[in-house]
Formats: sequence, C-alpha cells, structure tokens
Amino acid sequence: MIKVAISGVAGRMGLEVLKTVLAAEDTDLCAAIDIYNEGLDAGSLLGGEPLGVKITSNLAEALATSGAEVMVDFTGPSSVTANVVAALNAGVRPVVGTTGMSPEDFDKVSKLAEKMRLGCIIAPNFAIGALLMIKFAAEAAKYFPNVEIIEKHHDQKIDAPSGTAIKTAEKILEQRGDFQQGLELEEEKITGARGGKMPGGLRIHSVRLPGYVAHQEVIFGGVGQTLTIKHDSIARESFMPGVLTAIRAVLRLEGVVYGLENLLFE
Ligand code: NAD
Repeated sequence: MIKVAISGVAGRMGLEVLKTVLAAEDTDLCAAIDIYNEGLDAGSLLGGEPLGVKITSNLAEALATSGAEVMVDFTGPSSVTANVVAALNAGVRPVVGTTGMSPEDFDKVSKLAEKMRLGCIIAPNFAIGALLMIKFAAEAAKYFPNVEIIEKHHDQKIDAPSGTAIKTAEKILEQRGDFQQGLELEEEKITGARGGKMPGGLRIHSVRLPGYVAHQEVIFGGVGQTLTIKHDSIARESFMPGVLTAIRAVLRLEGVVYGLENLLFE
C-alpha cells in the first residue's frame, strides 16, 4: 500500500483525491492537511464513517509522523511551493496539481528534488483529454502558426491564465520558433481586451464564471479556415485517473517531471 498524505484535503480537488485514495486498492490515506476543518476526522468531509485520520494544518508534523510516502497537493499558488519544499525535506515525494508556481519556484523545487534524489510530479492538468489537446495543438502549430487560446474556469480560481493554457502555449512556441503573429501596434479600448500576451504575440484569454469546471479552446487561424481543438473537464473526476497514475509513478522517479504527458506518451 502506498501511504498518501493529502494537502488541501477539504478543497474541491482535495475531496476528489480523498475519495480516490480511499477507493484505490493500492493507496492508503495516512495524513489529511488543510487550514480549514482542523481537528475533524477526514471521514467527516465525505459525511461518512470516521477514518481515524484527523485533519491538521501542520504539514511538517503530519509528514514526519504519518509515514507518508507521497504528498498530493491541491492547495493554492501562495502555499504550494512551501508545501513541496517541506515534503521533499521530509523525504516525501510530491504529486502537485496546484497551479500558479513561478519559474523561480520550479527551479528551487527541481534543485531540491535532485539533491534529495526524490521524485516529484508537477502537472498543471491531470485529465488525459487535456493532455491530448496539448499534444494535438503542438502538432497543428507546425501548419497553423497563428493561434489564440481561450480558457474558461469556475470563478473561484485564483491564478490566470491557467497552468494548462501556459503549458499549451509553451508547447506551441516550441514548434513555431521565432514566428510573430498579429499586429505590432494594437489599440486596446479597454486594458486587457486582447488577453495576456505570450512571446511571439500568442494571446491567452481567461474567462471566470460559475458553472465552469476547466475548459480550453485552442483556435488556429489559416487562409480561409480555422481549426479549433477543444477540451472540457465537466467534472473533477476527470483528473483522478491521472492523479492515481502520478501517485504510483512518482515512487520510481528521481527529480521533477513537469507534466503527466511525459509519463503517458512515447
Ligand atoms: P479549493 O480552494 O477548493 O481548495 C484548496 C484547499 O486548500 C482549501 O480547502 C484550502 O483551505 C486549502 N489550503 C489553502 N492553503 C493551504 C495550506 N497552506 N495548507 C493546507 N491547505 C491549504 O481549490 P481547488 O479548486 O481544489 O483547486 C486547488 C488547486 O488545484 C488550484 O491551484 C487549481 O488551479 C488546481 N487544479 C489543478 C488541476 C490539475 O489537473 N492539475 C485540476 C483542477 C484544479
């Protein structure tokens, strides 16, 4: 059994991970961490029987005393890096779904994972459909270099654009080299109307509304035609097979893997 600590267990994603860890045959919940619901049994989050694991806000202590092998983190951009550093320092392998880490954070975590010789998976999207969307978008960019991305999420999402949109843009930019799209000078009547600008003029537009989970359209424009690659996560269960894959895979890795596609494709 793989002993799993869940950080952010009381959140939308944390609850799905809790159900997944309890249901899988080879994973065992050993610690439940959240800044809310401290002292409650983790089972109360699901309205069920006590699980014998109390929710705590003290991550370092929970990792040191629970025998955790893997920490799954779905918290927020302001806490994720400190949580991953704490896990690595405790000899626990992080599986990170939280988005919004800066390039400096990645660098810091990568160096520490290497030094500790521990696996760490950081995945901006665990849904297989979203990973295929990114793969197909990178392929299409060879033929359609003009592209804009529209991502749509629920209105409680803190960071924008989404980690998935940034990752998609990075993969497209790898394919199209120094290509520049759009006008050099544009006049925005309302600041931000044209979205966030990536290198080469690639724009990302972020929509935040209740009702959405996680959705993205990658729109390619060519002569007399457009091509749209679209993915919708309509429920948070969509991320769980990927999270389980990562929990199992991280045990045999050394260093940081950024993106689950590196474990699934080729
Ligand atoms: P949420 O706000 O519902 O849940 C976050 C939880 O973390 C809350 O219960 C909060 O109390 C807790 N928390 C905050 N700071 C903490 C800390 N320092 N220590 C312990 N717990 C802490 O958010 P959510 O919708 O579950 O999303 C969480 C993160 O996951 C976001 O960054 C989101 O973008 C990301 N996300 C990633 C994927 C993916 O596939 N990688 C999918 C969906 C969401």
